[in-house]
Amino acid sequence: MVRLKSYVAGGWHAGTGKPAVLVNPATEAPVAEANAEGIDHEAVLAHARLAGAELRRMTWAQRAAAIKAVAKLFHTHREELLDIAQVNGGNTRGDAKFDVDGAIGTLSAYAATGEALDARLGDRNFLLDGDMAQLTRAPRFGGQHVLTTRRGVAVHINAFNFPAWGTFEKAAVAWLAGAPVVSKPATATAHVTFRMTELLVESGLLPVGAFQLVCGSTGNLLSLLGAQDSLAFTGSNATGAMLRQTPGFAERGVRVNVEADSLNAAVLAADVEPGSEVWSTAVRHVATDMTQKAGQKCTAIRRVMVPEALCDAFIDSLREQLAGTKVGNPLVDGVTMGPVSTAAQLRDVLAGIRRLAEEGQIVHGSADRVDGEGSEAGKGYFVTPTVVRMKHAGAGVVHDHEVFGPVSAILPYDGSALAAGEAVGRGCGSLMTTVYSDDRAWLGTMLEEAPPWLGRMMLVSSKVADQVTAPGMVLPQSIHGGPGRAGGGEELGGERGLAFYMQRTALQGDRVILGKLLGIEVK
Ligand code: NAP
Repeated sequence: MVRLKSYVAGGWHAGTGKPAVLVNPATEAPVAEANAEGIDHEAVLAHARLAGAELRRMTWAQRAAAIKAVAKLFHTHREELLDIAQVNGGNTRGDAKFDVDGAIGTLSAYAATGEALDARLGDRNFLLDGDMAQLTRAPRFGGQHVLTTRRGVAVHINAFNFPAWGTFEKAAVAWLAGAPVVSKPATATAHVTFRMTELLVESGLLPVGAFQLVCGSTGNLLSLLGAQDSLAFTGSNATGAMLRQTPGFAERGVRVNVEADSLNAAVLAADVEPGSEVWSTAVRHVATDMTQKAGQKCTAIRRVMVPEALCDAFIDSLREQLAGTKVGNPLVDGVTMGPVSTAAQLRDVLAGIRRLAEEGQIVHGSADRVDGEGSEAGKGYFVTPTVVRMKHAGAGVVHDHEVFGPVSAILPYDGSALAAGEAVGRGCGSLMTTVYSDDRAWLGTMLEEAPPWLGRMMLVSSKVADQVTAPGMVLPQSIHGGPGRAGGGEELGGERGLAFYMQRTALQGDRVILGKLLGIEVK
């Protein structure tokens, strides 16, 4: 069995406590073990701070080149990483690619962002925010906002569902901003992150200490963070809420970003005709989100709002689309959906389906564990894709409880954009909602009602139906995050993402001197 070690303070640390056992969720066979007890986190932070100084000395071009090289390194070892993700994560090959290629793609995108910054700013290691403003009647007294890299360490804690993408989408942004990273993957699926760290360490592509890995508990790490440090967390709302209250965080002003649960929605307008391209796209999107990674995506559609009169037809189309799903061991040919990742996940997902079914009706799938194709009977954490039809889009468990598995609920509504917008808001803040319509007036009202509750909104109309990405796909150019229940955080979004690791300062003074110092033309 592989022992997953932490990479801290320049060396590998095996942990002194009883290890947690990582399993293959399709067979329940142990695959690795991990423990992080005994790490000296003061030394971890000191090591990171030295690397921070070196990263900050690098130019945009140098950081971009290093990040690009890391993307290439992972690409070179892609097949091996996909193999590991399949066994430890219960991923189909496609699911594993979504995670590993997502990491490589985001690293590449941030390398390109760094190259663009180099072209615009050259050796100036800061970002300009807006234009120089005249602050009073005095013409020479001006003000300019700038962002400079904070002196702290970026601590990242990630969820079990994206051990590759989650780790390296965060790291790419932090590295480009000039921040050293201490990263903790969720223990249950940490094998792929561990292997990627081994590759990174062997490669020497980054300054020593720019990336440290904690495979297991974070011990007293968080309690040691100070005013220039930050924590970016992805996981459940409950853990996020607890971590925000880490003793000393509020007093010392430790910066925190939380990406948490999300009741994402898909909303069909009444103008979408059954069988049309927009209709088929909506059906495909829902089915993909239910089955990809066995529905364990933070951006997956959980609530599908359909005009009452179209509900039966939509459910028929969705059932037809889901009919070809083969649940089983992802290593077996023909399997299209793997198990959920852990025994706890299986328990929670089945309990969640039962909770939904108390207020609705299961119209596809079931609330019981199933056996998986190619796995021993009774073994593996398999759930079948399940659709629950709720009575209406009004208040209820569907707006309160995220079932983090291959499950979606259909919510009939009256077809009006006002009602749909209100129902989207009942989720109390989501990462993502997709609306399907060609009706400009309906879309206009949705644009007024829904965005305050959302981090991202996709509008699917006839002319782009064949061009849009799947709604669950997070693109590095667009921000990822959402208000309220979704954590209130924001990641990615091109250059916007760097701001979390930087300090915005309003510089005020002689506009000519400021202009010279900052390298900007002042009229
Ligand atoms: P989780 O149980 O909250 O765990 C998330 C991470 O927090 C894991 O790395 C976990 O480590 C760590 N953790 C737990 N307690 C901790 C503590 N006291 N101190 C430090 N770290 C601690 O969530 P999960 O089950 O892995 O992920 C599922 C949830 O994540 C879902 O609700 C999903 O919606 C959400 N999610 C959100 C996004 C997003 O971008 N918004 C993305 C993916 C997932 P251990 O594994 O070692 O316990």
